[in-house]
Amino acid sequence: MRDDYDAVIVGSGPNGLAAAVTLARAGLAVAVFEAEDHFGGGAATGEITRPGYLHDLCSAVHPLAFESGFFREFGLRRRVDFVVPDVSYAHPLDDGAALAHRDLDRTAEGLGRDGRAYARLMRPLVDRVRGVADFTGGSLLRMPGDPVAVGWFGARTLEQGTPAWRLRFREEAAPALVTGVAAHTILGLPSLAAAGGGLTLATYGHAQGWPIPVGGSGAIVAAMVDDIRAHGGELFSGHRVRSLDELPSSRAVLLDVTPRALIQMSGERMPLRYRRRLERFRYGGAVAKVDFALSAPVPWRDPAVAASGTVHVGGTRAEIAVSENAVRAGRLPESPYALVAQPSLFDGTRAPAGHHTLWAYTHVPADSTADRTEAIVRQIERFAPGFRDTIIATHTETAQQVAGRNLNYPGGDISAGVPSLDQLIARPVLARDPWRTPMPGVYLCSASTSPGPGVHGLGGWWAALSALRHEFAVRARPDLSPRP
Ligand SMILES: Cc1cc2nc3c(=O)[nH]c(=O)nc-3n(C[C@H](O)[C@H](O)[C@H](O)COP(=O)(O)OP(=O)(O)OC[C@H]3O[C@@H](n4cnc5c(N)ncnc54)[C@H](O)[C@@H]3O)c2cc1C
Repeated sequence: MRDDYDAVIVGSGPNGLAAAVTLARAGLAVAVFEAEDHFGGGAATGEITRPGYLHDLCSAVHPLAFESGFFREFGLRRRVDFVVPDVSYAHPLDDGAALAHRDLDRTAEGLGRDGRAYARLMRPLVDRVRGVADFTGGSLLRMPGDPVAVGWFGARTLEQGTPAWRLRFREEAAPALVTGVAAHTILGLPSLAAAGGGLTLATYGHAQGWPIPVGGSGAIVAAMVDDIRAHGGELFSGHRVRSLDELPSSRAVLLDVTPRALIQMSGERMPLRYRRRLERFRYGGAVAKVDFALSAPVPWRDPAVAASGTVHVGGTRAEIAVSENAVRAGRLPESPYALVAQPSLFDGTRAPAGHHTLWAYTHVPADSTADRTEAIVRQIERFAPGFRDTIIATHTETAQQVAGRNLNYPGGDISAGVPSLDQLIARPVLARDPWRTPMPGVYLCSASTSPGPGVHGLGGWWAALSALRHEFAVRARPDLSPRP
């Protein structure tokens, strides 16, 4: 380790690594410090149930991998093999299942009397997917590149994020499909931010699909780490940073940490007014996670569910709203909504031949110590009788344990701060450049900054571009593409 770099990055989640890639590609001497013994933060893969079964420790499915501006410039698809299931997500119900095919028309055909209404809801967004990605992929205070896309997006969000969500559909399947994806946000339902988040993910689902990296999310991290090293960057694991004062000297410091951690690390350096603003940043609902090693695929009652990488388990729109609103009120729901991914159906590297892995989590109040294995198994059994008999091994984490293995998930909040409407506009504070702090050369780049949670690297990319402009007088965006 040197005692002097151009730029130092703390935290090696997708955002920290995106910042390091961008700065190293600008020709700067870069060092990354990571507290854990592996790089990648919320994108990492390991054998946590039994040898030979590869599980994603956090992110499993990557709707943003193809639409993130950073990953497009980085050429992620040329560096990592992805499988893209024909069905982006499935939603089992007691009498069948709703399927979000990549093909919007095919999706509508499966939604009975609500098919046309669903197609009309999604078509303007899918047709303008780049505009939607541009708007939702940076600070919401920027001038949008495609105002028409933003207009449609706003109108659809207003409808699906308020009690008006009752007006469009007549049956159960279509509203369940829309709600299953909105519930990713861990917010009350209906709400504007949940609708906006859900519609964005749904748009990607019908545009390029929801990709799954071959070998697990660690493959995305490996591609970024390789690029940093290939351009002279240095990475140090097992190195938790407690104070900015302990870092080697540099012109820029980019922090893939929460506002709470930034306050602690800055001490007296931080201006009091900025500190007060960061202290108002709120953390939210949490997850409890269970990974399964299985002797067979999940025996879904509706076999069509096996065509999907992701399954939203929780029943009808009304049932999911009850479950999510209970979490919001600080209670454990009896019949929880669970997010389930079945990557081994599409990627043979994940488990021994004929066997499978299953990734699942459910929402719980912050700091919960509840083991939700049985609640998740019961919900899956409801739509896949016999599932229990396929389980060989489980690995369970409570919200407190999720918090314990990543400093950026206080209380188990995997969004690193509630993604509510106010905290999406002001993330972490209301500013046109929310990544730049008032401390000279210090930038925040985690999911606690715009555009928020997800594996997209955008927080790191925007923070690095800001640092290049302000600290190094570099205005041109560095070329990030893979070179021959
Ligand atoms: C269970 C779970 C499932 C998820 N599923 C998905 C999914 O399917 N798809 C998706 O797109 N997203 C998913 N996410 C969200 C996604 O993983 C995160 O939004 C994303 O990883 C955020 O990236 P980040 O770089 O901001 O932070 P993180 O990935 O959280 O990384 C932060 C890193 O900084 C390190 N760090 C923090 N403080 C310090 C310090 N003081 N010193 C040194 N190092 C430090 C941490 O150890 C960590 O490695 C999931 C998250 C979880 C936990």
